[in-house]
Amino acid sequence: MPFVPEVSNVRRHTQRSWFVVHAKGLVARKGEGRLILPTDDEVVSLGLNHEAAHRLGSFDETDALVVPIDGRIEPPFELIGLRALAAFVDAELFGVVGRAFHATDWLTNSRFCGRCGTATTLSPTERCAVCPGCGHHTYPRISPAIITLVRRGDEALLASNAKFPGVFYSTLAGFSDIGESLEETVRREVLEEVGVHVHDIRYFGSQPWPFPNSLMIGFTAQWESGEIAIDPAEISDAQWFTIDALPPIPPPLSIARRLIDAWIADVRGMRGT
Ligand SMILES: [Zn+2]
Repeated sequence: MPFVPEVSNVRRHTQRSWFVVHAKGLVARKGEGRLILPTDDEVVSLGLNHEAAHRLGSFDETDALVVPIDGRIEPPFELIGLRALAAFVDAELFGVVGRAFHATDWLTNSRFCGRCGTATTLSPTERCAVCPGCGHHTYPRISPAIITLVRRGDEALLASNAKFPGVFYSTLAGFSDIGESLEETVRREVLEEVGVHVHDIRYFGSQPWPFPNSLMIGFTAQWESGEIAIDPAEISDAQWFTIDALPPIPPPLSIARRLIDAWIADVRGMRGT
């Protein structure tokens, strides 16, 4: 039985799967190439309260429970970052861990009411922190961000991030602003980051991106006008590339890579190769 997401915090199973999340990664062990989560007793030994955990849903006939932790983590446990986990867990488990990371962002940032400062409690019926003082509800924050592959004929515009210059070239991305449609975000972000105007903006697909709370919404767009002029605060370099001379590109599993792979396949299709 795979993971079934449920917003109810009411437990349904006799067994539990514990996702204990620290700011630096998941608290777990690596055993013979697979992930070993803490047991019920180990969760107590880590100083955590079973009742304080938040339920993500059902996972392999267990309650998938997430609980944040801070402080020092001692062996046999280690802290495994989300990107490192991608290398040795399957897509299903990776998805649950991603939810656990996103939930932890919400749980740690909504312990007190943002309106009146009273300590919140978790709703039993929905994924929500409720203030007993003023009734304010705090749901997990999901921050929409666009990610766009800009094309000009056979070419695609790929950029290297100013924070990780030269590591790889990727598609352009940025957060949606208040009052914007996603298409407006695409036009604004592309213009701000690389100075070109785009049109023919088409939806491609989406991907949760729990670093810490984004939802990446992918588009393709066609170049309309303008020469590349980068914003050096965001971008270290941007160029038009052809599939014959690609720079290092992002690793698999990311929507950026899916956008690039789809472009490569499309160009090959047009060439009949
Ligand atoms: Zn309140």
